[in-house]
Amino acid sequence: MEDDTETICRICGYDDELFWEGGWPTAFICPCCGNESDVGDASVMSLRNYRGYWVRHGAQWHDSLEECKRKLQGWDLLKQMANIPPEWR
Ligand SMILES: [Zn+2]
Repeated sequence: MEDDTETICRICGYDDELFWEGGWPTAFICPCCGNESDVGDASVMSLRNYRGYWVRHGAQWHDSLEECKRKLQGWDLLKQMANIPPEWR
C-alpha cells in the first residue's frame, strides 16, 4: 500500500497537521477552514461545496490564535490554496 498520510487540508491547503493517516480520517479540525477530516472533505464534490461556502463567507479562520501566527508570517489565502493536491481541487 502506498502512503496515504495527508498533512495538507484538502479544502484550504493548510499544512503541517495530520488530517488523514493510512487512508483514515484523524478527525482533526483544520485551524483555518474549520473542517474536520472526513466531514466536509470525503469526496471532491463535498469538499468543493465546503470550500466554496467557506471562501464566499470571507475565508474565516477557525482558530484565531493560529490565524495571528500565520498572518504574522505573511499568510496568503491563494498561496495556501496552491498547496491543495490536484486531486482535491
Ligand atoms: Zn482547512
